[in-house]
Amino acid sequence: MVPKRYYPFNKINLIHPLLAPFFVMAEPLVSALGTNRLIVLYAHLYPDRSGNFNQNLIKKNLQYLVQECNVLPLRDAMERLDKNQELPRRAVAILVDDATKAFGQQGRNLLAEVELPYTLALIPGLIQESGRENQIARLMRLAGHKYWLPNQEMVQKALGWFGPPIDEGAVSFEGLFEKARQLEEDQLEDLLLHIRAQNDHFMSWEELKQLQAEDKVDFASHTMSHPQLKFATGTWLDWEIGRSKELIQSNLGVEVDSLVVPYGNPKHFTADLQQALIKHDYKYSYSTRKGTIGSQTWRHQLPRLNLEDEYWHLKLHTCPAVCSFLYSNDSGLSNKQE
Ligand SMILES: [Zn+2]
Repeated sequence: MVPKRYYPFNKINLIHPLLAPFFVMAEPLVSALGTNRLIVLYAHLYPDRSGNFNQNLIKKNLQYLVQECNVLPLRDAMERLDKNQELPRRAVAILVDDATKAFGQQGRNLLAEVELPYTLALIPGLIQESGRENQIARLMRLAGHKYWLPNQEMVQKALGWFGPPIDEGAVSFEGLFEKARQLEEDQLEDLLLHIRAQNDHFMSWEELKQLQAEDKVDFASHTMSHPQLKFATGTWLDWEIGRSKELIQSNLGVEVDSLVVPYGNPKHFTADLQQALIKHDYKYSYSTRKGTIGSQTWRHQLPRLNLEDEYWHLKLHTCPAVCSFLYSNDSGLSNKQE
């Protein structure tokens, strides 16, 4: 007997440029059936490694948000959901990751032109004025950033700097963090040379203060060194989560209650991370799982959708009722982001 072949219906196949206009038209009808939900859009707003940055597309997308959606400050939107208060139709909040110098020079202007509120996720360890902690963050970045060797080999390479013997059991990112914390600044500089650490450019605290004075901006933590948090344990994890919050709060005088998990992969949300979030009093943490947010959505792995997407996709991705249907039960489905 020939076995039956099943072609299960998958809602994701409905996400198509030809079908998108019908979904957008259906949004008012579908949203009338339930309570309004929130869509958090993520963006980087600076050129990628190949120098690509489609400013025209971003301008068009931002204009669409101004004309067709209700863009709320993220903090207000989440507070409303926490209190079970109503959200407007097509409620959207913008979360911008990384705060590189290039964002300060380019992307920020695009947001300022349309006067939309946004939340900026900072990596305080990678801000140069952070001194010794900047050196340690640049080192620990080998647990996230793609260097010339895979992450696990990079940590061995770094531990090799300390000289033999490398105890097999001590080959861990946390082990490296603990050893690095004992070093003087010139030793750390030598270790950074040894691993050929890069020094990307992020906005300074002064630049961030200026932005704070001029824009409708709020801040979130994006860890100290932008690692893959699935590797993070113990004292190192504690530093990534706790210290980043402290530095943003003390430098910018805002309360930080959100963590944007680097790379956003749901697999990086470990039990250790959950504990660290609770310990350091974070109310929210954001992944890149696709979906919408309601009053019942788990606050420690909130979904986001991409702002820097094709125009038809953005239109669809600003329809909370329709997206809530399209992305329900797709916990493994993640956007790609860095
Ligand atoms: Zn990032």
